[in-house]
Amino acid sequence: MAETLKVVVTGAAGQIAYSLLFSVAKGDVFGKDQNCCKSCPLFLLDIVATDDPMVAFKDADAAFMVGAMPRREGMERKDLLKANVKIFKAQGQAMDQVSKKNVKVIVVGNPANTNACILSKYAPSIPKANFTCMTRLDQNRAQAQIAAKLGVGNDQVSNVIIWGNHSSTQFPDVAHASVTIQGKTVPVPEAVKDDSYLKNEFIKTVQQRGAAVIKARKLSSAMSAAKAACDHMRDWFCGTGDKWVSMGVISDGSYGIREGLMYSYPVRIQDKTWSIVQGLTINEFAREKMDATAAELSEELDAAMAECEA
Ligand code: NAD
Repeated sequence: MAETLKVVVTGAAGQIAYSLLFSVAKGDVFGKDQNCCKSCPLFLLDIVATDDPMVAFKDADAAFMVGAMPRREGMERKDLLKANVKIFKAQGQAMDQVSKKNVKVIVVGNPANTNACILSKYAPSIPKANFTCMTRLDQNRAQAQIAAKLGVGNDQVSNVIIWGNHSSTQFPDVAHASVTIQGKTVPVPEAVKDDSYLKNEFIKTVQQRGAAVIKARKLSSAMSAAKAACDHMRDWFCGTGDKWVSMGVISDGSYGIREGLMYSYPVRIQDKTWSIVQGLTINEFAREKMDATAAELSEELDAAMAECEA
């Protein structure tokens, strides 16, 4: 049995956590031989249920930040940012004081990218690389669209990229993706043979998928979001091998994106350390989409920072 991990799940009473906790407890994330101590109720192991961040984040090894203020009818974007800045500021300050310095954090609660920036800002003693946000759900959706189009299993499609914000400006990009069909691996654009679909319907479907789920269920995605959060954390702990995965990470200026934005990039992970996949060719179409989602994130971050200083 490996050393016990302390895993924090915020928003543990919500619908995403309902599926997430089960997967963590079952060993889908950290391994079947990994004991976990969770800050929320489930059926096994050490459990701490608390609403005190100083207790919840104490000695945390991993944190799923699912709890956030949801957008309500009539609420302006700035009101949402204001409410979330308060939540993530308090949680960041607690983490700074009591979590392990190598704690690995995924922010799921929206606006996920900017919430992750705020969390990191208020936990300066923890490396910025330890704060990430989830765009894996978008990646999984993009992969599923391509797999369905080509009539193959989702796992036959690899290296689909989500660039930017987890919002409707995100850029799902298959220019560097490949698919294995009947044992032969080929570039996705070559297999799909429909540039117009890839530039229009495909991108729009992935960007609007969250809204479509809300329309159908009257609730946002829960099980698929929980699965994606588990995929993200499992790859962070266990590595990605040859594949790339997308996650929101702090920008170091790669691909001309403003430094300090929590921007979704393709990454490789080895020894629990992610690195942005470098050297990809970016054409004019991609450049425009990548810049548009960066502009939205810049605006969000500036508004959130102004709120922090207010
Ligand atoms: P939910 O409303 O069912 O659950 C959220 C829970 O968080 C609630 O139980 C609420 O009481 C709790 N909460 C609120 N403020 C809190 C705080 N300060 N500390 C701790 N807990 C707090 O929502 P859900 O469907 O589970 O979704 C959670 C979040 O995930 C939402 O912000 C949603 O928009 C977001 N989301 C993100 C993605 C993604 O891909 N990044 C996908 C789906 C949903």
